[in-house]
Amino acid sequence: MSLTLPEGFLSYVKEWEEKIGAFIEFKGDVPDAPGTDVSASAAVSGVSGLPFAVKDNIAVKDFSLSCGSKLLEKLRAPYTATVVQKIEQAGAKVIGKTNLDEFGMGSSTDNSALKKTNNPWDTNRVPGGSSGGSAAAVAAGIVPFALGTDTGGSVRQPAAFCGVVGLKPTYGACSRFGLVAYASSLETPGILSDTVARCRSVFSVIRGLDPLDQTTREAPAGAPALNADTAGLHAAEGTGKIIGVLSPEAIAQAISLEIAAIASAANDSGDASLETAAQAAILEDEVRCGFELAKQRLAELGHTLVDVEVPSLKYGVPAYYTIATAEASANLARFDSIRYGARPAWAENPEDLIDKAREAGFGAEVKLRILLGTFVLRSGFQDRYYLRAQRIRSGITRNFEELLGSADYSETAKPNVDAILLPVFPTRAFDRSPNALSPFAQKAADLYTCCANLAGLPALSFPASVEGGLPVGVQLLGRAFAEAALFDIAEGYEKKYPFPHPAGFKAFWS
Ligand code: GLN
Repeated sequence: MSLTLPEGFLSYVKEWEEKIGAFIEFKGDVPDAPGTDVSASAAVSGVSGLPFAVKDNIAVKDFSLSCGSKLLEKLRAPYTATVVQKIEQAGAKVIGKTNLDEFGMGSSTDNSALKKTNNPWDTNRVPGGSSGGSAAAVAAGIVPFALGTDTGGSVRQPAAFCGVVGLKPTYGACSRFGLVAYASSLETPGILSDTVARCRSVFSVIRGLDPLDQTTREAPAGAPALNADTAGLHAAEGTGKIIGVLSPEAIAQAISLEIAAIASAANDSGDASLETAAQAAILEDEVRCGFELAKQRLAELGHTLVDVEVPSLKYGVPAYYTIATAEASANLARFDSIRYGARPAWAENPEDLIDKAREAGFGAEVKLRILLGTFVLRSGFQDRYYLRAQRIRSGITRNFEELLGSADYSETAKPNVDAILLPVFPTRAFDRSPNALSPFAQKAADLYTCCANLAGLPALSFPASVEGGLPVGVQLLGRAFAEAALFDIAEGYEKKYPFPHPAGFKAFWS
């Protein structure tokens, strides 16, 4: 099956690309991948005949695989990731590779060493990150869906910034084979799409066991059925789900108290970074408005909203950055310019070669994280940082499982809630002015997204409203392998309150 690009499409792409720069590589003319066997399921897959984009840290044979890094700028992928292969077999075609924060490290896409990507709603603002190119391409209508990776929020946060749907699946539901690893125990491939139904279709195509990734699992018996082929028919709006609501005010206050306690114990109340971390958790007024509106609308749609608490959430960000940087320092060791990466012009000896290649090839954020990762793992100190972070991770997982039920569906106890509603990020898309979010504040602001990765749970972000000309997203977090419940709730919302588009958007792929 070949892809037919509609008339006017390529000039539409060109016009948008000049403004947003979403792609690292774009192929308007896409031949059939050799050996692509478009199976009979293609016709019912919901993705057949569509183009899609792939974040440039996911391998697609003969396309770039730069990871947004100078070190890998020239790398071409020698094979295709399992998730991409599955989508191609269902009849869709990759038309480009999208920009990202280098190796997926960041929340703005400004950490890309290769180019700048702008938000289609306001080109002075960032698209979010790290899957910012994928989110911008979907929001601009260039592709109906794109793949990203989500290690601590990198699909859901740019989805919220650009006003599209973003799914981080259950850990193990989708193969990571062909993803360039950042933090292996946290990350999964994820989906950015124009509608919830599309996201459901793509997820139904990419999930499942992969012999090339030993962490993959089939959904356990008892997990809610996905019903992808009946998308639109079964939208369960008004069928009364129980949605737990995490109070952002209570979380911000808990973090603030914790930080005050740390400052007083250290006798260092003047530490500006502690103050920044406390501030970063507080929602911007417009985000609070969007969140309150989503609560009200979900109640009107017939769901029951109850207040819930996840006490260990206040420790989520430190635990996340301890584990993510520890894993990153190990995963990025392979980029030594011998196995992978650009080689320096000359070197005295092998050690010098590696030093020079990494010094020239990695950006500042990547170096910071490698240093942090080796610091928390250093001999004799694991107990103080890494193991402590793992204990917090277990605590967060336990807290969520008490509310949502565990991945073991043979338990008879009924969970307290079907999903948990929380903000995605404390701000809308930010700009690049000097008083915009600092890199440190961006990390502190990951608190609402990184908990789903720590617990391995599915989370879906969707546009709740537009406030002050920019989209505000909210997030539903669910029981392991219960993506269907999240899709059902969000689809009901979308049906009543269709998702918005930026000025200049044209629907080529509806
Ligand atoms: N902002 C987070 C980080 O920088 C999330 C990254 C991601 O999910 N890849 O680590």
